[in-house]
Amino acid sequence: MHRTFNFSIISFSHSITDTPIEYLKGVGPLRAALLQKELGIYTFRDMLNHFPLRHIDKTSVQSIHAITPETEYIQVAGVISQFEIIGEKTGRRLVAYITDGSGYLELVWFRGIQWVQKNLFIGKKYLVYGKISYFNSQPQISHPDLEMMDDQIAKDKFIYEPVYPSTEKLKTRNLNGRQLAKLTATIFTQINEKEIPENLPPKLLEELKLTGRYKAYTDIHFPKTMDDFNAAVRRLKFEELFLAQVRFKMIRNRRHHKSQGVLFEKVGDLFNTFYTTLLPFELTNAQKKVFKEIRQDTVSGRQMNRLLQGDVGSGKTIVALLALLLAVDNGFQGCMMAPTEILSRQHFYSIQKLIKDLPVNVHLLTGSTKASERKKILKELKEGGCHILIGTHAIIEDKVEFKNLGIAIVDEQHRFGVAQRAKLWKKSAVPPHILVMTATPIPRTLAMSVYGDLDYSIMDELPPGRLEIKTIQRNEMKRMEIMEFIKGEIKNGRQAYIIYPLIEESEKLSYEDLMQGYEQVKVYFPEHLYNISMVHGRMPALQKEVNMQRFKNGESQILVATTVIEVGVDVPNASVMVIESAEKFGLSQLHQLRGRVGRGAEKSYCILLTGSKVSNEAKQRLKILCDTNNGFKIAEKDLALRGPGNIEGTKQSGALDFKLADIILDQSILEAAKRYADTVLDNDPGLVKMENSGLKNYILSQKGKTAWSKIS
Ligand code: ADP
Ligand code: MG
Repeated sequence: MHRTFNFSIISFSHSITDTPIEYLKGVGPLRAALLQKELGIYTFRDMLNHFPLRHIDKTSVQSIHAITPETEYIQVAGVISQFEIIGEKTGRRLVAYITDGSGYLELVWFRGIQWVQKNLFIGKKYLVYGKISYFNSQPQISHPDLEMMDDQIAKDKFIYEPVYPSTEKLKTRNLNGRQLAKLTATIFTQINEKEIPENLPPKLLEELKLTGRYKAYTDIHFPKTMDDFNAAVRRLKFEELFLAQVRFKMIRNRRHHKSQGVLFEKVGDLFNTFYTTLLPFELTNAQKKVFKEIRQDTVSGRQMNRLLQGDVGSGKTIVALLALLLAVDNGFQGCMMAPTEILSRQHFYSIQKLIKDLPVNVHLLTGSTKASERKKILKELKEGGCHILIGTHAIIEDKVEFKNLGIAIVDEQHRFGVAQRAKLWKKSAVPPHILVMTATPIPRTLAMSVYGDLDYSIMDELPPGRLEIKTIQRNEMKRMEIMEFIKGEIKNGRQAYIIYPLIEESEKLSYEDLMQGYEQVKVYFPEHLYNISMVHGRMPALQKEVNMQRFKNGESQILVATTVIEVGVDVPNASVMVIESAEKFGLSQLHQLRGRVGRGAEKSYCILLTGSKVSNEAKQRLKILCDTNNGFKIAEKDLALRGPGNIEGTKQSGALDFKLADIILDQSILEAAKRYADTVLDNDPGLVKMENSGLKNYILSQKGKTAWSKIS
């Protein structure tokens, strides 16, 4: 039998694409320094990854005569008839006229005048592209793209000429968008297919009909047709998203196979007693399903790292408590971290109440815990006497040491950074299991891109008997009627929230708004007939607590509050929420706020009060909220409306820094990328199969350069 050996010795350091950009013909040390500084281009490869902004269709030249007030961008070909420098100081400018026989068009430069002047020749033919603006009601282009159409260029190989993002500094060094195109073209004369090796498995290319990698690079820069260009973009977007998903999947796999985790061997007495005799209701199917997932993780011997997504009110706290009891049953400690003092207190009290008959020692640690109490807690934690610790980020401070932390739960994750999450890992020699619970759902695509390293659980079911919260939007002129409505609810024994948009807790103006609002509420609800509580971020913790408590046990009928109550507060008897200046809130925040009502059996209402001037975007946002109570749907719409960069907690993550892909617009590509990444790695976890060699080589070549280095 004939055998061939594959002696492919891959040495990436010898790839031409690694050549420093300085050595590209036409660059040299000075321009190289600028390219590095301005665009981060160090090597040929970086240059190839500097993609065009757009392409100029050289066949599509318009006539100057055809310019109308509607014309936005135009490309014309003509000769320069005259030019001069006019004006003084800041008004100094170079004005030139180009004519194509049908008319004259003014071109003007305010910067880089000297350089432009040197390159303008009267009587020569130029191709000009730019945005039309009007000066003295005459059309002109300021700072146009300008290129001399000498014979050589007229016979240009490419119909579609790429124009690259550039900067003012580069332009003065003769490196405008079009010149960058020439440099890129030069690189292509020096490389071949081997320099941009395929990194996707052949089968995948075939199934998804993706352009090969080398051709994709060629076509994104110098396409012959727009179809080729679009296919190239699709391929490169897929590659980008696929590689990100492969990386996540490898992190998950590594954790699943290698990382040592705390073992919760048994389901013990605490858990069983609680579940069978103390739990005040039947778990929903979704809660059961998620708890099973947690159970499986914690008995596997590997570390759990799980994201739990559940809508507002879906009952995440109970799931968390069950997990904590499981830890204690197995001789471990557990902790639960929440973003605000109020919320941690609330978790503490409700958990304490639920398990008061169990021999479990629970403590609360926040920024306002007294020094003596704190000392005692820290001691108990270290010695193991404290089983469950609940608190704010005070519990991740270095001084807080556990005897044997088995599980750490982070409630309402979006307030915590990734770094804070990592701090929890270090609280124990064997990293504790981590359960991250989100306040409101995060869109799926976002979760896939930002939390792709976590396993994923979803609770898409509310406890039975919940009534839809009726949400309406009203102009603040209708305030009177609304206050009357609240009076009616109070008469029926219900309670109401009135919320003010104190967005930053230090914002003076909003604070004054709140105080004014409070006075106004008192006018509608006089003190001899009603009790009103108020909580806001500037209040001392104890005062907040007292006021909250009064509302909780029904002493006060109305709670005037800022968004400090946003997360997690649970007063089932409250049936109305009025949100003042609702247009100032983000969607997920509004949904989270609204989730404070509708927790009991009564029909509940959320009234979004808005000012007289509401932007279209805000109107759309509020309409979504009036239309649906489903947090998963709201999250998707919020993402579509505001873009991924504006969703809380995602900006810093860097997980969205894709060059080409956009997780909203390219959702279907992202989903395919995830599916294929999972399939490829499930079939060949070590990427040892021949068909995956391209992918493997690529990953090896990236090690040490990027986040890939985290993968062993
Ligand atoms: P969230 O998921 O928003 O954190 P919570 O855990 O605060 O929700 O639960 C909301 C309310 O629903 C609480 O009053 C809780 O006691 C109640 N609850 C949770 N699970 C169930 C269930 N299976 N059946 C009935 N009520 C439940
Ligand atoms: Mg909660």
